[in-house]
Amino acid sequence: MSSLLECINLSKQYQEGESQIEVLKQVNFELQVGQQVAILGNSGSGKSTLLHILGALDNPTSGQVLFKGEDIFKFNRKQQAAFRNRQLGFVYQLHHLLPEFSALENVAMPLLIGKLDKKSATTRATEILDRVGLSHRLSHKPSQLSGGERQRVAFARALVTNPAIVLADEPTGNLDDKTGETIYQLIGELRQDFNTSFVVVTHDRQLAAKLDTVWELTSGTLRQQVSSRSETAVVTNV
Ligand code: ADP
Ligand code: MG
Repeated sequence: MSSLLECINLSKQYQEGESQIEVLKQVNFELQVGQQVAILGNSGSGKSTLLHILGALDNPTSGQVLFKGEDIFKFNRKQQAAFRNRQLGFVYQLHHLLPEFSALENVAMPLLIGKLDKKSATTRATEILDRVGLSHRLSHKPSQLSGGERQRVAFARALVTNPAIVLADEPTGNLDDKTGETIYQLIGELRQDFNTSFVVVTHDRQLAAKLDTVWELTSGTLRQQVSSRSETAVVTNV
């Protein structure tokens, strides 16, 4: 395995009037090719902030994020957009599907934005929707789908461009336990099929336990938990 994404001494502060909120404190983190990582943390612990920085959607106050050894915050605007569009897929808690478009159109959208022709985009989107078990729901709009189905569409949309990394923000946060489990299963299968790396931020310990490595974010400090699967020692960021 080789390092795909790395954070070095990442800090993030927000200015709130006179005072500063320190959301991330000298975070160090590493993601290998094909690895599925969970970042556990309570609400307000900084999970979304960290995920947004990993995806170059927000800037850190200090520190670096390296993708294949290159600092993503030294990329120019065009390189940063290419990094987001070609290397990353995003899955959000509230799916963020476009309500007026069908499942197929939602999944094809990143390819069309990437200037793929409509026929090829439709073929590829159909294949990936089939892969997530939704070939019978292609023309359904998000409002006509169940919560679990919407999240499957969101995963299909994240994966359709064949990204190196999927960043998922509480993907089971709005689902009941049983539906959540079908999403855990899907994440495992997708890794086997595509060797995609996943960073899943969650407060769902059951989901976290299904992934290779579990990190815990507490008061802005990130620590790797000892895992029976990877047998890695605890690494702290101090
Ligand atoms: P989580 O995703 O773990 O629930 P967030 O990353 O959304 O946590 O937020 C972490 C902390 O940072 C919270 O206390 C939140 O209020 C604060 N925060 C997030 N975004 C901003 C912002 N744009 N301005 C000020 N404070 C923010
Ligand atoms: Mg959040």
